Amino acid sequence: MRPYVVVNVAVSADGKLSTRERRQVKISGKQDFERVDELKATSDAVMVGIGTVLADNPSLTIKSPERISARVKSGRSEHPVRIVVDSSARTPPDAKILHKGSGKRLIAVSESASEGLITSLSDYADIIRAGYGKVDLTMLLEELYQINIRFLMVEGGGTLIWSLLSAGLVDELFVFTGKIIIGGLNAPTLADGQGFTIESEFPRLECISADISDEGVLIHWKVQNFGL
Ligand code: NAP
Repeated sequence: MRPYVVVNVAVSADGKLSTRERRQVKISGKQDFERVDELKATSDAVMVGIGTVLADNPSLTIKSPERISARVKSGRSEHPVRIVVDSSARTPPDAKILHKGSGKRLIAVSESASEGLITSLSDYADIIRAGYGKVDLTMLLEELYQINIRFLMVEGGGTLIWSLLSAGLVDELFVFTGKIIIGGLNAPTLADGQGFTIESEFPRLECISADISDEGVLIHWKVQNFGL
């Protein structure tokens, strides 16, 4: 068993997550920011790859005090569990995700991560070891389910999302497409990694909704051919 997995990203009109130097770009606006904060507030955990931690240094906290207090009133933690997928334990010990806001943090490492780096992170986060070389995402999600994480939001980046999609571990995607073009062959996209080559491997999506928001378009997709 694994959590229900919902990916949320913002892309430019040409499908890029950020610039070719992996510099964060403001793609959406206030309305979409509120939707993302609400999605986070309904999630048990929020996950990113180490590439996103190193590039953006996000805290992944809920921003609205009202949403935080609604969670607390319903017996939940102020913020969802924050998870970094980080095979070699490269998360900087001063990363915002480890310090901003209360609550549990998890760093998922592989068996080959250095014990010294793991020790330096274990003051701030629980460590899950899953897989050799790279984090085994199927194993990780099974472990997350065991600790009662049932609804998992994934905030990127493209390498992690690709791996989740290719392992059949994504249930829904929210893709906000903003009114800019970033360009660049090497700028990250929603699904980087190797890419599928055989048409029968392409995940098929069902469009749940498409709405104009912040002068861009928010598309809500459901993945059809991978179930729980
Ligand atoms: P990423 O997807 O955040 O992290 C990828 C890293 O995760 C891998 O290089 C790998 O590093 C680690 N990892 C461990 N196990 C893995 C596995 N099984 N599969 C895949 N990855 C695994 O990094 P990214 O692709 O470089 O994306 C970062 C960029 O995306 C930044 O530019 C950021 O600004 C952008 N971004 C944009 C949005 C948006 O909504 N616009 C959202 C998030 C990020 P190790 O081998 O060291 O473990």
